[in-house]
Amino acid sequence: MSLIVQKYGGSSVADAESIKRVAKRIVDTRRAGNDVVVVVSAMGDTTDELLDLAGQVTPMPEPRELDMLLTAGERISMALLAMTIKGMGHDARSFTGSQAGMITDARHGAARIVDVTPVRLREALDEGAIVIVAGFQGFNRDTKDITTLGRGGSDTSAVALAAALDADICEIYTDVDGIFTADPRVVSTATKINRISTEEMLELAAAGSKVLYIRAVEYARRHGVTLHVRSSFSNAEGTLVINARDGEKVEEAIISGVASDLSEAKVTVVGVPDIPGKAAQIFTILGKANANIDMIVQNVSGADTGRTDISFTLPKAQGAIALQALRSEQESVGFEALQYDDQIGKLALVGAGMRTNAGVSARLFQALSDARINIEMISTSEIRISVVTRADTINEAVRVVHTAFGLDSDGEAVVYGGTGR
Ligand code: ASP
Ligand code: MG
Repeated sequence: MSLIVQKYGGSSVADAESIKRVAKRIVDTRRAGNDVVVVVSAMGDTTDELLDLAGQVTPMPEPRELDMLLTAGERISMALLAMTIKGMGHDARSFTGSQAGMITDARHGAARIVDVTPVRLREALDEGAIVIVAGFQGFNRDTKDITTLGRGGSDTSAVALAAALDADICEIYTDVDGIFTADPRVVSTATKINRISTEEMLELAAAGSKVLYIRAVEYARRHGVTLHVRSSFSNAEGTLVINARDGEKVEEAIISGVASDLSEAKVTVVGVPDIPGKAAQIFTILGKANANIDMIVQNVSGADTGRTDISFTLPKAQGAIALQALRSEQESVGFEALQYDDQIGKLALVGAGMRTNAGVSARLFQALSDARINIEMISTSEIRISVVTRADTINEAVRVVHTAFGLDSDGEAVVYGGTGR
C-alpha cells in the first residue's frame, strides 16, 4: 500500500463541477488501494478576489487579519471537497493547516515551515479516511496565530506533508499536462518534458515559471521528495521532478526550457564612486530594507570620472521601499542619482547540458538580434542565462528563443483551465 499526496491548484477546483471531477479522481486513487492525503488551494481566483476586497476596505491591510481572510479560501475548498467525497460513500475528513500540524514562523504572508506534526492526519489515515488539508496555511506556536506561506504556497504545503508522512510520491495537479519547455500560454508549440532534475526546475521556478513554486522545489530537493506534475483535466503522464543526486536518471538536454518574468523592476544607481566598499554599502542598505535582489550588473567606471553605475532588479512590489532606503543614504554612499524602470521583462534559458556546450549564449543573443530585440542586462549561472528586455517584447523574445533552440513541438500544448491571473 502506497501513501500518495495529491495537491490540486485553484483552477482544478474552480467550481462545483470541477470539485466533483477531482473527488472522483481522489476516490479512484483510494480504490486502487492507496492511502491518500489531498492538499487543496482556494477555488479559482478566490485568493486574488479576497486580496482585492481587502484593498477596497483599507489601503494597507493588517497582515494578521489578511492571513485570517486569505486562509478562508482554502477552508472553503477543503470542506466542499470532503463533503463531495463523503457524498460518494467514502470516508473523508478535512483539516486546516494548524489541525494538520503545519507549524511555521510568525511572518504573516511569507511564513516558513519550521515543523510538521501530522498526528491527526495519521490517525485519520489509520481509520481508513481520505485526508483533505487546506494548503497555503500554518500556525505559529508563539503568537498562536494563523499564517500563510506566500502566494502559491499550497505546493509547499503538499511537499512538506509528503516529506513528514514519508509519502511515496507527491502529485501536483494543475491546468496543463506537466512542465513544458515554455509557458504554454505564451508558446502554444511548447514541448512537454517527461523528466527534469530538481536543479533545473529550481532555476526555471526562480526565473518565473509558475507551474511549480520555488520554495516547494527547494523543499522537495532538501527532503528527497519526488514530484509528479500533471493535469487534473486529463490522464496524460505528466512530468517527474527528480533529485538527480539520488542517482536517478534524468535526460540531460542541453536546454530544458525558457521562462519569463514580468514581476521585476530595474533600479540603476548612477555615478557611484568607484572605490572599495560602495557595493557593500548599497546592498547592505537594500538588505536592511528586505529587498530581494535578483540580477546585479556593474559597469566599468569612466576613466575620467572615477564613477560607475550599478543596476539591479527586484520585485516591483519592493521598488518604492528600496528607492526610499537608498535615497535616505544618498549622501553617505555618494551616488549621483537613481533611475527606476518597471517596464522590463526577464527571460531565462535553463539547461543542465549547457555546462558542457559552447555557443549557447551566442545562439541566444543571435535569436534576439534577429528579432530586433534589445538586451539591457545579462547574467549567467552554470545552467542558466538570463537577459532583461523591454516588457512589451518579452513574449516575442520567449518565442524566438524557444524556436532557436529547437524546442517547438508539432502539436499544440493544451491549457485546460485557469485565467493565468
Ligand atoms: N490560494 C493561494 C494562492 O492563490 C495558494 C495557492 O494557490 O497555492 O496563492
Ligand atoms: Mg491559487
